[in-house]
Amino acid sequence: MGGEWSSRPSFCCLGVPWALCLELDAWTSRMPSPDMVPEVSSLWLLRLLRDIQLAQFYRPILEELNVTRPEHFDFVRPEDLDGIGMGRPAQRRLAEALKKHRSGLKSKNWVYKILGGLAPEQKEITSAPDSPLSLPEPEGGLKCLIPDGAVCRGELLGSGCFGVVHRGLWTLPSGQNVPVAVKSLRVGPEGPVGTELGDFLREVSVMMNLEHPHVLRLHGLVLGQPLQMVMELAPLGSLHARLTAPAPTPPLPVALLCLFLRQLAGAMAYLGARGLVHRDLATRNLLLASPRTVKVADFGLVRPLRGARGRYVMGGPRPIPYAWCAPESLRQGAFSSASDVWMFGVTLWEMFSGGKEPWAGVPPYLILQRLEQDRARLPRPPLCSRALYALALRCWAPHPADRPSFSYLEGLLQEAWPPEGRCVQDVMEPGALRMQTGDPITIIDGSPDSTTWKGQNGRTLKVGSFPASAVTLADGGGPPATHPVQRVSPTQGERQQESGDGDRGKAKLRDLPPARAQRRNRNVPLQRMKVISKSLESVLSLGPRPTGGGSSPPELRHARAVPQGPPGLPSRTSFASSPSQPSQPARERPPWPKRELPHSQPSGAPATGKATIPSGGLLPDSELQRRVTEVGLSVHGVTHQECQAALRATGGDVVSAIRNLKVDQLYHLSSRSRADCRRILEHYQWDLSAASRYVLARP
Ligand code: ATP
Repeated sequence: MGGEWSSRPSFCCLGVPWALCLELDAWTSRMPSPDMVPEVSSLWLLRLLRDIQLAQFYRPILEELNVTRPEHFDFVRPEDLDGIGMGRPAQRRLAEALKKHRSGLKSKNWVYKILGGLAPEQKEITSAPDSPLSLPEPEGGLKCLIPDGAVCRGELLGSGCFGVVHRGLWTLPSGQNVPVAVKSLRVGPEGPVGTELGDFLREVSVMMNLEHPHVLRLHGLVLGQPLQMVMELAPLGSLHARLTAPAPTPPLPVALLCLFLRQLAGAMAYLGARGLVHRDLATRNLLLASPRTVKVADFGLVRPLRGARGRYVMGGPRPIPYAWCAPESLRQGAFSSASDVWMFGVTLWEMFSGGKEPWAGVPPYLILQRLEQDRARLPRPPLCSRALYALALRCWAPHPADRPSFSYLEGLLQEAWPPEGRCVQDVMEPGALRMQTGDPITIIDGSPDSTTWKGQNGRTLKVGSFPASAVTLADGGGPPATHPVQRVSPTQGERQQESGDGDRGKAKLRDLPPARAQRRNRNVPLQRMKVISKSLESVLSLGPRPTGGGSSPPELRHARAVPQGPPGLPSRTSFASSPSQPSQPARERPPWPKRELPHSQPSGAPATGKATIPSGGLLPDSELQRRVTEVGLSVHGVTHQECQAALRATGGDVVSAIRNLKVDQLYHLSSRSRADCRRILEHYQWDLSAASRYVLARP
């Protein structure tokens, strides 16, 4: 048996944790004789006696006095020790050592209590040291105890409230080296502070029971001084550090941010299903395990949810991340899965704001007031689509019960996924997002009936607006979106946000009773729209009926005239539309159809300074500009290019161009025929606002 002590695998076969075996390895070299092979259950005694140079009494104490546990010494008299030949000075040393050992045990027991389950010495791990990826697998409970010597700490990765984190290398029994992160409990001059130790151990106890592809893995614990957690290394650091990395580090693609959100929602749904609340969800606590994988980390504030309401209420004042917290957490210290969902919304906001600090400049004591009394919410970041922002607003519903669950959020994210397209026509115009044919484009905002979209060029990672006709949507780009987010009935939070984020007073499609909203769009089924029509969004906000006359009211400034294209193709004009294109748009348009390269203008060709009109005449630049401006001023929200196209279609006639654009607006807003729209507009003296209200009120 003595020979087996030198072989680590056989140790493991004996049912001894290999971590402990390594410790024993070191001991065996110092043992007085091979016949002193200790029982695992009495290792403590050998260690204790060795420390006070009394190892020779190990066998007599064990075998003659039958002492196997520290408390057995309560029944051992000095005469008994005399009987095994231990002198009185040695007995005093032993009494001292026992006292120390017992006080150590007390705290150790507390450690085990917090860790829950068996003491580490009693744990068996099932490592598979021969496999190439032979990380010890947990068998429930503590993943494994790792001996101090098996972990070598390297560069400092960062520090938090409770400790410092180093890069490290963990040598497995097989000799395999695994890169790890080692979090050491910060120890002050008087040892660890109670709450810090508690939080540290709680973090261990939570992590050791978690297994999810997007939750940082705990490999094990080093019961040394200081206590150390050995965790999976996230080589690319925190998401927050990546988001705020200075140039030349490029920004992250919007589609990748969405992927991270989905991974996060999945991980949080997993935590929630295990009855845990994270309480510290933020980009600083999302670690990048690979360029396309985030993992939730930092479980120091995690708590189990209790009671029928599934809440955790803080017992006393503790530091919490104010700006990320839900109102009920700030007011009552109440945390739940719903408060984690609120934090998810703030994390989304951080991600799309380039890692900005939420509520920066607002003192913590005012945040609750802003949220509750002012009903303020974080504003929509430029990179964030309306659909995603709508999702964030749902996470920020004032009442926890109105917030979506994480598993529901996973579905909402699918629906709000930005469509992917490809550039089919170079865009070089100043002010527009530059793109070259073939560039992958992520559409941030756009709708089938708008001619200008906003997106991100996957090659340059720049964000901006561009003519919709310059991009063809990829088949199956992004996860399938079968229903638009707006289809879901609104929550309190969304309604409040409408009045607080700059789009003041705008009612949106989602604010309408679903049946009514559906009716209004029966020619452009909602489930095919993907993104809410800006026109609808604006027009629905109109106030009382006007008496008619005058130009369109400013509320329509977001409305987009839908220019005309060939049948079967979306009626969007490009920045350089073809004069030969037929002007009748198809009635039924697929929401994100593929489009052909405009044949009128070679890809990348600069726009001409002159515009042809169907009659064959050429307008001088200045006259064309004047007419385009006149049309643009009369139909709010139309682009320069749309005006040009409308003028071309009418042979340069301004009044007809204006009217055609208005007919287009109304036609795409309602289910009526173009002729009907014209009649209604005529009735309302070409007041688009009044005509819009009329058709919306009588679908
Ligand atoms: P706190 O614990 O106070 O909430 P924190 O999250 O910043 O703050 P830690 O969890 O101690 O604190 O982590 C400190 C830093 O160390 C992190 O910001 C991160 O950059 C880095 N870090 C932590 N764990 C790992 C890991 N597993 N891999 C790589 N880096 C890590």
